[in-house]
Amino acid sequence: MPLYYKINTYGCQMNVHESEKLAGLLEGMGYICCPEGEHADVIVFNTCCIRDTAERRALGNIGVTKAEKKRDPNVIIAVVGCMPQQDGVSQAIREKYPYVDIVLGTRNISSLPEEIGKVLASREAKRKKSDKRYRGADTRLPENYLEIDEATPTLRTSFPNAWVNIIYGCNNFCSYCIVPYVRGRELSRSMDKVLDEVKRCVDDGYKEITLLGQNVNSYGNDLSDGTNFAKLLHEIDKIEGKFRVRFMTSHPKDLTEAVMDEMAASDKICSNLHLPIQSGSDKVLRDMNRRYDRARYLSLIEGLRCRMPDIGITTDIMVGFPTETEEDFLDTMDIVERVRFSNAFTFIYSPRKGTPAAKMEQIPYAVKQERIGRLIKAQNRITKELSDAYTGGVYEVLAEDVAPKYEGMICGRTESGRLVTFGGDPSDIGKFFDVRITASRSASLFGNKEEK
Ligand code: SF4
Repeated sequence: MPLYYKINTYGCQMNVHESEKLAGLLEGMGYICCPEGEHADVIVFNTCCIRDTAERRALGNIGVTKAEKKRDPNVIIAVVGCMPQQDGVSQAIREKYPYVDIVLGTRNISSLPEEIGKVLASREAKRKKSDKRYRGADTRLPENYLEIDEATPTLRTSFPNAWVNIIYGCNNFCSYCIVPYVRGRELSRSMDKVLDEVKRCVDDGYKEITLLGQNVNSYGNDLSDGTNFAKLLHEIDKIEGKFRVRFMTSHPKDLTEAVMDEMAASDKICSNLHLPIQSGSDKVLRDMNRRYDRARYLSLIEGLRCRMPDIGITTDIMVGFPTETEEDFLDTMDIVERVRFSNAFTFIYSPRKGTPAAKMEQIPYAVKQERIGRLIKAQNRITKELSDAYTGGVYEVLAEDVAPKYEGMICGRTESGRLVTFGGDPSDIGKFFDVRITASRSASLFGNKEEK
């Protein structure tokens, strides 16, 4: 009988990639990815704590596994990642969800096989009435967390896209963010390791490499060999083969001219940047401890567009930070109109326990909701206007997947990051096509392959 595993992933791309590592570990133990409709023997929740909603969704789904455990007491349930890394949360999970077998933090996920082994051994011992219940590992950052685990295998699941971590953790302590507390300080991988991994991905046929980190622009700051992000991009650009490179996330305070120059000079690094602004108000940016102001942000946009006129720029915007007044919010609306982002990930601020902003006086939820409504409306209009401008043009698109809602269609992205749906079949996935855009709908474009 095969043994199946299922991984439920919440949150950012870092977590999606970490789930690929969890899958690699589980397959190394002989488990197989659970087919649709089958019953899993190991269920992993790879959690996120950056927003209240992600946390509540994960807890709701963990709660549902109680019935599963009742039906099959042999199933192993593991909760891993950011959520249990917070102070007191791991204990709370163990108390509120006693049927959870394993709780692991962010930097000890590689011990999952060992923990599964302990659970199985403990169950066996219990059957023989000789052991106490196993209570799971300590989720605090382990003593050796300053060492990067290079040994954990990755089971890539996003062909033709491959995710490559270049830096872990964050030193920035934005006043609303829990990440530095749960992911620890910045820790860069050596350039050789990153280049080796990128080369392996290219040799294996991956066509788009996304470099990952909480703040990729800090890459190398903790290494003593003069390495930095611009130098890394320069070396990656030298790797032979037809492939694209993207990266996320960039912090506006650390984005350098040298990085912009590398982007502009390279035909592999996409003209596409996700550059979170969070707020257009200098006062709110100061209270958020973002360490840039709107003038600096606007000068970066100018620097990028001078070098790459067609660059696609996306952002994150937080509405309802505790000190945000109507006037501050209007500054955000103003910067949205000035920059004209291709797209913006907008969200309502929710207090994260243990962060400085959580202790400030909060804005009523109705005010935040009304503001985000105005923001979304403005951004949707801009996104649609920018999408319309693509119509009639021909763009190179990497076919990435079958289009979920359209039969006989596939989808992929332009270099600038625009999603395009066009006619094709699964055998096209992983290939580049010139696509003429015939229609646009909000952020999505539609088109046809150009005959060569
Ligand atoms: S840069 Fe700020 S928002 Fe981003 S992970 Fe670090 S602390 Fe959080």
